[in-house]
Amino acid sequence: MSQNSAGEIAKVFCIANQKGGVGKTTTAINLAAALAALGKKILLIDLDPQGNATMGSGVDKNKVQSNLYQVLLGEASIEQTRVRSEAGGYDVLPSNRELSGAEIDLIQMDQREQQLKQAIALVLDQYDFILIDCPPTLSLLTLNGLASAHGVIIPMQCEYFALEGLSDLVNTIKRVHNNINPDLQLIGLLRVMFDARVTLQQQVSAQIETHFGDRVFKAVIPRNVRLAEAPSHGLPGTVYDKNSRGAKAYIEFGNELVKRVKKEALKAIAQPPRQ
Ligand code: ADP
Ligand code: MG
Repeated sequence: MSQNSAGEIAKVFCIANQKGGVGKTTTAINLAAALAALGKKILLIDLDPQGNATMGSGVDKNKVQSNLYQVLLGEASIEQTRVRSEAGGYDVLPSNRELSGAEIDLIQMDQREQQLKQAIALVLDQYDFILIDCPPTLSLLTLNGLASAHGVIIPMQCEYFALEGLSDLVNTIKRVHNNINPDLQLIGLLRVMFDARVTLQQQVSAQIETHFGDRVFKAVIPRNVRLAEAPSHGLPGTVYDKNSRGAKAYIEFGNELVKRVKKEALKAIAQPPRQ
């Protein structure tokens, strides 16, 4: 069995936001590729039945032998199911529409919110980071993600209702922290699809900084068409056009995350904020 580069177990992070189209999958793919480029061993778990993280990593979701559905039901292991993203330099645990049936099948199981965690436990020593791309719902699937993770990274757009939506998510994180997974922390908020020319975005960005302080990542991901084009080529944006502003921002974010995780013991990073 291969050891990860630090000789420690993997840090497991969910990329979550209960809104759709806010940049979760783009963040998951590009962060995976950015960390892989730093020499880290990465597993990207596609927890969304849409399979966008799978496809965007250059893996055909309809041609895989097994997928996360079988893993969650205990019918296949992660080792049997993972596929290499040659494009990104990381492993992918693929998903497709079959995963949407898991919600119903899981309900019948004992410890239904712990299935992913049990599967991940067997590969924790093989990776530096395990990133989980969550679906845009607070479903049993997302709960499996949150139950498995050390922390949550929240990508968000600096728009009018952003803060309101955020408090629901932060409350969810607190509830999972208190009831299911005491290890779960809020790692940080990542501003994505940012357009500095828009005054409202600057204002919301400043509000987020006031409210969440050092939990806001310094790296800001700009709105950048190269990031949006990359998935149709089955490539992370950081590989598709590494000189684009979007790619550079995600690489900066990867560096910042590694530093943040190294600097502070993970537990001390951030308790979910009190309200
Ligand atoms: P989610 O996973 O939260 O639903 P996605 O990552 O799929 O969101 O992003 C939604 C759409 O926005 C996609 O078409 C994606 O290519 C595009 N997108 C994401 N981030 C950026 C960005 N920084 N600049 C431009 N387009 C982006
Ligand atoms: Mg997505």
